[in-house]
Amino acid sequence: MAALIDGKALAATVTRETAARAAQLASERGIVPGIAVILVGEDPASNIYVERKLREAKKAGLRSFEHRLPAETDQAVLLDLIAACNADERVHGILVQLPLPPHIDATRVLDAIDPAKDVDGFHPVNVGRLSTGTGGLVPCTPLGCMQLLETVIDDFRGLKAVVIGKSNIVGKPVALLLLESGCTVTVTHILTRGLPDIVRTADIVVAAAGSPGLVQPDWVKPGAVVIDVGINRIHDPDGRPRIVGDVAQDGMDHAKAITPVPGGVGPMTIACLLSNTVRAAERHAA
Ligand code: NAD
Repeated sequence: MAALIDGKALAATVTRETAARAAQLASERGIVPGIAVILVGEDPASNIYVERKLREAKKAGLRSFEHRLPAETDQAVLLDLIAACNADERVHGILVQLPLPPHIDATRVLDAIDPAKDVDGFHPVNVGRLSTGTGGLVPCTPLGCMQLLETVIDDFRGLKAVVIGKSNIVGKPVALLLLESGCTVTVTHILTRGLPDIVRTADIVVAAAGSPGLVQPDWVKPGAVVIDVGINRIHDPDGRPRIVGDVAQDGMDHAKAITPVPGGVGPMTIACLLSNTVRAAERHAA
């Protein structure tokens, strides 16, 4: 029977540790770590994510600054808000919820964030630091994936990892982290030929494709560890909505361990966001 890697429990532990670090910073240095959360528009899923992030930030003792802008907000207005957050001493982390409305150039917006406050780790400076293995703020979902893997793998050196998906948000950064930990990494994507056979070689599978149930049980080698990043909203035959991952979770008994959806990677993403914010505040204080 594959072990279920409990993302909720690990996220609770990480958040407790983050809260303790935040409290220490406040008592020793008088600094309350602060995060600015910016949402443009009324996308329902983004709204849920933002609500969750604000709620968890509060629980961890962080100060949060909520900025909700209408969908038709001018790009210049958004850039001015980011400049104000960059200059605000009370703000140690800035999060711009994606996706942005189509008339806004997301790259331009993310590039405007001070890299020291870029708690999502999307600024080119942080991407460069990750690719050279020289510190920086690391994107939250990939960081969460590594922490989940560390609960079941002691030594990554020489393991074969296959990442499905090559996005800047998940696939590429998680591949770099796995590489840094000593794995031999294959990054696959929609144009990859013979995906099942490539996945069959993996000791670690990270599925981040956004394709419900893509990874089938017979793609997974006995004893492999599977991280299911996918969050896909589907409807059951009776019409009920449901969230599923990128892995067909049934029939995975031969895996060593697997993350459930929901309750796996999702909670860790928020926990890592808070941890990155406190890290940014600690660095600011150093
Ligand atoms: P994306 O759409 O930006 O990238 C998807 C990648 O998967 C692309 O590189 C594409 O080439 C590849 N891909 C798509 N279908 C494929 C297929 N059939 N075979 C092989 N490769 C395929 O998506 P993303 O932002 O990287 O997110 C991926 C998934 O992870 C989504 O379901 C998203 O909702 C989820 N996600 C979850 C969290 C979390 O906190 N759990 C965070 C971010 C994203």
